[in-house]
Amino acid sequence: MALIPLPLERLLRQLGKLPGLGPRSAQRVALSLLQKPEALAELQRNLADVAAQLGICEHCGNLAFNGRAAPVCEVCANPARNTGVLCVVEGVADIWALERSGVFTGRYHVLGGVVSALNGVGPEDVRIPQLVKRVRTDEVQEVILALGASVDGQTTCQIITDRLMPQGVAVSTLAKGMPVGAAVDYLDEGTLSLALAGRQRVA
Ligand SMILES: [Zn+2]
Repeated sequence: MALIPLPLERLLRQLGKLPGLGPRSAQRVALSLLQKPEALAELQRNLADVAAQLGICEHCGNLAFNGRAAPVCEVCANPARNTGVLCVVEGVADIWALERSGVFTGRYHVLGGVVSALNGVGPEDVRIPQLVKRVRTDEVQEVILALGASVDGQTTCQIITDRLMPQGVAVSTLAKGMPVGAAVDYLDEGTLSLALAGRQRVA
């Protein structure tokens, strides 16, 4: 008989692959859940709800809370948001950080990653083609690149700038007051507000 029952073994393997969790932490999480059946049941319900009720916004790539059929996020569904300005971010957590700062009134475009030669991620692997198309069809006047100050973040900014140049849209990046190597979702609201206000036009 196996020391660890097969269903638990499978769960441990999955948990151990999650960001921030290694095999030891996965074990701690799983054993703690097993000791509290009500917590396990609640987790099961939450996972099922998230799977059933969350979708990806078909316009911007943000999370949408209105199910999987034609999902549209809160920002895109809000008629008060400025459709002429797009803020390009790496992930959904960056939208949360920018929304907390409360200074941005336009819409977003989530890339779902950054271009990285080292990790084999090309421009077509993130939502850059969709961005170029959106700028054209939505008559966007300004694109703000709110990507991290890492090498990959800056490479991605350059690629997007090159591709948007022929469309005559204004392109700016966050001000250089951002700490080198900083991820957007780690910045406090004050720094982020200043970085956004001091954005620099690059095209
Ligand atoms: Zn959206």
